[in-house]
Amino acid sequence: MNGIIRSWGKILLGYQPSLSIEITRECPLRCPGCYAYGSEHLGGDVTLREVSDFKGQALIDGILELVARHRPEHVSLVGGEPLVRFRELDVLLPQLSAKGLHVQVVTSAVRPIPAAWASIPRLSVVVSIDGLQPEHDVRRAPATYDRILKHIAGQRIVVHCTVTRQQVVRRGYLREFASFWSDQKDVRKIWYSLYTPQVGEESDEKLRVEDRARVVEELLELREEYPKIEMPKGLIQVYAKPPQSPDDCVFSRVTHSLSADLRTRITPCQFGGTPDCANCGCIASAGLGAVGRHKLFGVMRIDPIFNTSIGVGRVVKRLRESVSGVALDGPTPTSEPSV
Ligand code: SF4
Ligand code: SF4
Repeated sequence: MNGIIRSWGKILLGYQPSLSIEITRECPLRCPGCYAYGSEHLGGDVTLREVSDFKGQALIDGILELVARHRPEHVSLVGGEPLVRFRELDVLLPQLSAKGLHVQVVTSAVRPIPAAWASIPRLSVVVSIDGLQPEHDVRRAPATYDRILKHIAGQRIVVHCTVTRQQVVRRGYLREFASFWSDQKDVRKIWYSLYTPQVGEESDEKLRVEDRARVVEELLELREEYPKIEMPKGLIQVYAKPPQSPDDCVFSRVTHSLSADLRTRITPCQFGGTPDCANCGCIASAGLGAVGRHKLFGVMRIDPIFNTSIGVGRVVKRLRESVSGVALDGPTPTSEPSV
């Protein structure tokens, strides 16, 4: 609740309380259905593999600059594969934590997670594990189950599974997944997202209407049986009725997403391109969607208040920009990318 109130204050001042950064263009994996390397992810002119990116002190300084400018409450460091820049993260993560920020590193765990990260306050290491071992290992080699189990030793990770159609063709699959990962002592939470396609996409990953209904039903049961599944009922219910457009998505409106050159915006949300909101399965969007649909005192939904706050924030931001002469969303003054 404290986090929500602080974020609300930021929104009223014209800031977006969540900052998401693709900290590198590199990734040793080639996952089918990966949105980050999609041709339209950055709008079509350039792809993530083609943008310049930063290394070393320039990356650390660049991210600290962005944080100073955008004043987020929550920072999500994604990729590419963030562990490609583990040396920079070793320096950066304690500094971000010392600022009181909640930080999330989303990784495949393709290499060991540094032991020191386990004791950094407010840091969540989220490991993407897409299905049980036979399917996951095919999709996400070289970040196989064997490697992940070795590399998370001593951590308190969050398991993040993106549910694809391949996983729901067999009943009981999600339960087996929950059971396996619940038994791992290095796992503190389990999250399920649903695969989010682009508009018009037809792929093996995309869930059909009946799949989505079944997954929602199963997740509502599983959350009661496996306490490590930290997904409120309201969040899961948003999967049944996702936002219809980015304007309807609280998450996309409160998150500033940037690619590896630390200047290219990813719009309308971290997926980039033209995501199919009506088939969205993003856990962050669903989480904030559930907050927005919550009724204050049992009568009034929060999202209209939220929309008004965002409108107020825009006016305040314009005023602030006209006084300072600096565009908040302009490119960072960091030196040119070094790679
Ligand atoms: S690990 Fe992530 S960024 Fe790398 S290919 Fe897989 S989905 Fe894409
Ligand atoms: S997070 Fe989901 S609902 Fe929100 S803009 Fe992206 S695809 Fe649409």
